[in-house]
Amino acid sequence: MNRLAIVSAMESELRGLRDSLPQAQLVRRAGRDFWVGELGGHEVVLVRSLIGKVAAATTTAVLLEHFNVQVLLFTGVAGGLGQGVRIGDIVVADQLLQHDMDASPIFPRFEVPLYGTDRFGADAVLSRRLGSACEGVLAAIEAGTCAELSRAQLQACGVAQAPRVHHGLVLSGDRFVSTTAEAQALQADHPEALAVEMEGAALAQVCHDFGVPCAVMRTISDRADDTAHVDFNRFIDDVASRYTHAVVCAMLGAGG
Ligand code: SAH
Repeated sequence: MNRLAIVSAMESELRGLRDSLPQAQLVRRAGRDFWVGELGGHEVVLVRSLIGKVAAATTTAVLLEHFNVQVLLFTGVAGGLGQGVRIGDIVVADQLLQHDMDASPIFPRFEVPLYGTDRFGADAVLSRRLGSACEGVLAAIEAGTCAELSRAQLQACGVAQAPRVHHGLVLSGDRFVSTTAEAQALQADHPEALAVEMEGAALAQVCHDFGVPCAVMRTISDRADDTAHVDFNRFIDDVASRYTHAVVCAMLGAGG
């Protein structure tokens, strides 16, 4: 694989991977720390984008202009929207849409003005590869052979059933969705949406502009409902970084 960027919004999502790159070189740009190193024999650049669409777009543009990155992977947490998308499950985006984009009536609601579309695609090959890595990690957790994450740790975060991998539409917007009413409104507008977060569609749009493939993986930390803030904090503290670490290492063959 060509030089890969691994992007997360928060420190707590990236911690485990950064600890695996003790030799990485730190480059500071646009207020962000870019860690350039090697993982499983692949050149990687790790960076925390900060939260929200603009922060994600800035980070992506800097990666593409200054770090010679040829593939991008966003990994982080999200609120589950789709039926059966539970806390602890993993969603791999096939398409991403900005749920707070609205230039109507001049353009159809959700359409990104002058792009003629309301959604940007993730790279199919990369997303399949990512999905397989996720399946492998979940199987290892069930078998008790995952070095990073155990069934008991997941149970402590309220994950009762064996987690699953889903592929589909992910929504992004500059809002932490934390009421059942908001989550229902999003589902009514986008019945096929699996999850909601705050960065993915921005990264996908910038990647589209540069013609560079990307993939987005989101572990479900909450259900974007009235208890979202409680579930989110517990998940973020305890397991979010372990998921990222396990899946990326599985995907790159870095052996934990
Ligand atoms: N309390 C946090 C801020 C969290 S914002 C802090 O102080 O740092 C939520 C982050 O997790 C965003 O990066 C977003 O992409 C993701 N996310 C998880 N659950 C979400 C939800 N229900 N709605 C929107 N974004 C969510």
